[in-house]
Amino acid sequence: SIPLGFFGGIGAASKRGVLVKGSNYLEALNDVKYVVFDKTGTLTKGAFTVTRIQPAGAVSEEELLEAAAYAELHSTHPIAESIRAAYGKEIDEALLSDYNEISGHGIQVNVNGTEVLAGNAKLMNRERIPFEQPTDPGTIVHVSINRAYAGYIVIADEVKEDAAETIRALKELGIKQTVMLTGDSKTVGEAVGRQLGIDQVHAELLPQHKVEEIEKLDQQKSPKEKIIFVGDGINDTPVLARADVGMAMGGLGSDAAIEAADIVIMTDEPSKIPAAIQVAKRTRRIVW
Ligand code: ADP
Ligand code: MG
Repeated sequence: SIPLGFFGGIGAASKRGVLVKGSNYLEALNDVKYVVFDKTGTLTKGAFTVTRIQPAGAVSEEELLEAAAYAELHSTHPIAESIRAAYGKEIDEALLSDYNEISGHGIQVNVNGTEVLAGNAKLMNRERIPFEQPTDPGTIVHVSINRAYAGYIVIADEVKEDAAETIRALKELGIKQTVMLTGDSKTVGEAVGRQLGIDQVHAELLPQHKVEEIEKLDQQKSPKEKIIFVGDGINDTPVLARADVGMAMGGLGSDAAIEAADIVIMTDEPSKIPAAIQVAKRTRRIVW
C-alpha cells in the first residue's frame, strides 16, 4: 500500500507546477546526489537571436542567411527558429528535397538543386568542408553551399533568470555535484558553466555520449545515491529515460520528452528542481 502522505506530496508538487508521475519518483528525490543538466532550453532560454552574419568568399550576407533559413525550415531546434526569424521572408518549401537532420550536428538539404549544409564545426569536419574557427562568443552555425564554405552565423542565447539560484539552492540541499552535458561548443558550454557555478561541464557531446556520461557517473557513485537528469527533450530523450529520475521542461519541451520523463516541470523553471526536492523531504517526514 502507498502511504497517504505520498499523494499529499504529489499534490503539493503539482501546486508548484511540477508534475510527478509516481510516488516512487518523489521518494527517489530524497536520495539525489547528482543533478545533471542539458544546456539549451534547460539552463538557457533556448530563445536564440542572430547576432552576426559573416559570409565567406563571394557569398553575400543575404545569400548566407537565405541558405541557412532554407536548410532550417523543418528543424524544431531553437537554433533553427532563430535563423528563420532573422531571415523573416517566406520560404518556398517546394524548393527543398533530400532533407536530412543529423542529430547533434545540423542539417543537410537540397535547395533548388544546390546542396546546403548548416550546422556546427563537427558537421563541417565530418563533411570535410575546410573553414576557420571563429572566436566570436556564442553558438556558431557554419554554412556550406555546394560543398564550398559560405560563412557562419552567430547566435546568442541567455541563461534563465533562476538558473544561478537553482545551482546555489541545490548545493544547500546537499547535492554533491552539478553537471552540464551539452552538444554545444566547449567555449559556450564552459562560459555558461562558469557563470552559473556548475561543477563539471562536458561539451560537444552527441546524444549517445550524453547517455555514456550518465553511465560513467552511475558507476562512480554509491548505489544508494541517485542521479537526476533535466532536459528539454531536444536530442536528450535517451538520457531522460536512462537517469534514475528524468525531469523534462513541459513548456518548451517536446511531447517525446514529456512522455519519457518521470517528472515534468510545467513552467520551464529550473528552480522547480530544488522546490521538488524540498517537497520530497517534507513528504518523507510526514510519512515516517
Ligand atoms: P544542447 O541542447 O546541449 O545544445 P543539442 O544536441 O540539441 O544540444 O545540439 C547540439 C549542437 O548541434 C548545437 O549546439 C548545434 O551546434 C548543433 N545543431 C543541432 N541542431 C541544429 C540545427 N537544426 N541547426 C544547426 N545546428 C544544429
Ligand atoms: Mg537541449
